[in-house]
Amino acid sequence: MSVKEQKTFCFQVKVNRDKCKGCQLCIFYCPVGYLVLSSRLNKKGVKFAETKKDNECIGCGFCYLICPDACIEIHGKEQDKEK
Ligand code: SF4
Ligand code: SF4
Repeated sequence: MSVKEQKTFCFQVKVNRDKCKGCQLCIFYCPVGYLVLSSRLNKKGVKFAETKKDNECIGCGFCYLICPDACIEIHGKEQDKEK
């Protein structure tokens, strides 16, 4: 059986939880529903946006662009995928 290597690109989204004011704009605009409102409170005493466990991010950048307080960073990286 042959193993074929394939390159894929994945995106890591980081929300600065203590800067977040919980407005939920990023959650509303994420086309794949990858961002959710946490049940925990941040230092401001509000529920903050966080990412789900399974990474479904497609790297569209909507959350980054829509956040009024610039709380979101998106990093992309190439990785090997065995098929
Ligand atoms: S980059 Fe796009 S798909 Fe990824 S979390 Fe932000 S809005 Fe969702
Ligand atoms: S748009 Fe920004 S401030 Fe609003 S919930 Fe998302 S990360 Fe927090």
